[in-house]
This record gives sequence, C-alpha cells and structure tokens, in this order.
Amino acid sequence: MPCNPKEFSFWIAANLSLDDNQRMELLKINEVTGRLRHELKIIEECCVLTCKNCSNVIARREDIFSMSLQDPQGTYVNPNGYVHEAITVYKAKGLHLSGRPSTEQSWFPGYAWTIMECSQCHSHMGWRFTAVEKNLKPIRFWALCRAAIQNRISAPTDADA
Ligand SMILES: [Zn+2]
Repeated sequence: MPCNPKEFSFWIAANLSLDDNQRMELLKINEVTGRLRHELKIIEECCVLTCKNCSNVIARREDIFSMSLQDPQGTYVNPNGYVHEAITVYKAKGLHLSGRPSTEQSWFPGYAWTIMECSQCHSHMGWRFTAVEKNLKPIRFWALCRAAIQNRISAPTDADA
C-alpha cells in the first residue's frame, strides 16, 4: 500500500470493486484530496456485511444501529453463559428463519427472537427480533453475530439489492 497520498488515491481507485463509470469518475478528479474524499464516500456507501463462510450479502453498514445504550458494542450473554457479540441492523437479507419466535430470556424486553441462518450455507448468523409489545420501535430488527460476518466492499449491484 503506497504512503504517498496521490499514489494511495490511485491505489484505492485500482483496488476498489467499481464499475467502469465509477472508476472513470474517480480518475477524472484531478486533485488528490477530492479523489480521496470521493473514495471514502464510495467505501462508506458500498460497505456490506457478508456471511463469513460463503460471502452471501446480509446487510449494509449504513443499516447498523445501536439498541443498547449501556453497551453500544452489543455484548450479550445467553442463559448458558455464552457471550455473543452482536451487531444490530434495521434491515437484513439472505437469511432463513429457523424455528419459531420465542420471548424466553430475550436480550431485548418486549421482543421475541427467532434464530436466523444464512440462506446459502445455513451457518448460524444471529436472530431476528420482533416486537410483541405495543409502541416499541423499531418493530423488528436483526442482531448478527460478529463472529459469523465480515465486512466487504460490495460490487455496485450488491449495494442496492
Ligand atoms: Zn453463508
């Protein structure tokens, strides 16, 4: 990875998975700071969370939010004492429900959880939480296991799906 800002900006342009138009647009920017800023914008917009096992796209980074004021990192302990680090997102896809919703030992009072697995490889990805009490917001969200997902810069087609 080059240290010189100008070379670095070209290195990013060459290594991001972009379509030809996006790449041309980047390379048309003459000034280094402007190019880097535009690249950062693309990275932020295109970053997705995928299944670590099979790269199935599960969620977009921009849909991440924090459900826990005490612990924005999202560390949760299940009844067996197993600690899960979870990322909560407003939207998710590429998942299958496994089993029925349950409110037993729910990490989020007023919400029922359902186990979610990857629709491609059936790895355990986390849980869907659905409100069972009135006036709760959001009505539903997903908690994804940090250990089951990875960050990836998406191809332009992934991001809008
Ligand atoms: Zn998978």
